[in-house]
Amino acid sequence: MNFSESRLIGEKIRFLGHDITDNIENADMIVVNACSVREHAEERALGWISSISSDKAKIYAVGCLAAHVPQKLKNAGADYVSREIKWDEFPSAGGERAFSMKEEDLPIDYEISIVKGCDRFCSYCIVPYLRGEVQSLSPEEIFADIERCAAKGGAVFNLLGQNVNRYNYRGYKFSTLLEDVSHIDGVKKLTFLTSHPADLTEEIVLKVAQNDKILKSFHLPYQTGSDKLLNRMKRGYNSEGYKNKIRMIRNILPSMRLTTDIMVGLPGETEKDFRDTLDVAEEVRFDEAYMFAYSPRKGTLENLVPERIEKETAGKRLSELITVQNSISLEKKKERLNQKDTVFMKSLSRKGDFTLGILSDFSPVLVDAPYQRGKEAEIVLTELKGATLFGRLVQ
Ligand code: SF4
Repeated sequence: MNFSESRLIGEKIRFLGHDITDNIENADMIVVNACSVREHAEERALGWISSISSDKAKIYAVGCLAAHVPQKLKNAGADYVSREIKWDEFPSAGGERAFSMKEEDLPIDYEISIVKGCDRFCSYCIVPYLRGEVQSLSPEEIFADIERCAAKGGAVFNLLGQNVNRYNYRGYKFSTLLEDVSHIDGVKKLTFLTSHPADLTEEIVLKVAQNDKILKSFHLPYQTGSDKLLNRMKRGYNSEGYKNKIRMIRNILPSMRLTTDIMVGLPGETEKDFRDTLDVAEEVRFDEAYMFAYSPRKGTLENLVPERIEKETAGKRLSELITVQNSISLEKKKERLNQKDTVFMKSLSRKGDFTLGILSDFSPVLVDAPYQRGKEAEIVLTELKGATLFGRLVQ
């Protein structure tokens, strides 16, 4: 979400006639768009603002951090603090200026916000308090943003929201939006993030399975396998309900890529709760997972459940989970070797010796073939080095 918002802020600043620089020393204005969902991110943003604070550059602090801790940001050195930039007050440098880049240097993938805020109020999360209740952007606004990015060379679009399944603009729903976006000129691949399991419908899964432009992938956070904790977290499902959603997806498309978020060390998490979490990971066999130790946050689960888990215990549980999940991820990648798939070429690899692409299920792959921006080709997966899949073109 922050990437998408930062891109729009950057575009607007350029539109006002300013140049964007990578070198902070050259800047006379610095815009910090910061998130405060995790305490660590908040501390880092405040520390960074203190470290760059100078008389030379004006610092604009925006984003949900600005709504959450405005005084701390001012104390750290921010000159302007607001949830959103008030553009009529932002200095202009003389109107729109043309800028040109070579086609191969233009970004090919773009993140597009479609829903702001969240109304699920999970008990451990501060997003609904910081970003407000769900607000679906109008289809016209979304199409215009995508058309603008496509005109600049964009071809892969990631539709973003805290819970995209909740997208609903006056009865116009997420599955219809997916279909309509896939028909916009220039859109070659489409994906989205994040899907709340309780709001995932068969209609959405069928749309993903049936539309060739939509990558076959769902990110479906399950958080914990403990029904007791899911209930305290007010997630709106239990572990059986979650697994039913997985069964529904796999009945429709068995090869769908599934990724998730898992937390351990939640307040009140017993050894049995943790084993339940491991059981879900082993039963579902996710392709990838983002795994964290619970981060205490004021106004969240910490206030409801005082039983803190020792840092050491949470750390041990996290490393056990990571070991189990990483071995599942590797096994699933190995199962793909010698199989064919289509690749969408996105860029040259960092060293410039391979083409970096995405497979039909959004998995990254390095292909031993000359890079041709946006080309689709059939490949066979030939090798797994570390966690990286390699492929070569089918002749
Ligand atoms: S659905 Fe996600 S963003 Fe919304 S309250 Fe729950 S955890 Fe937070």
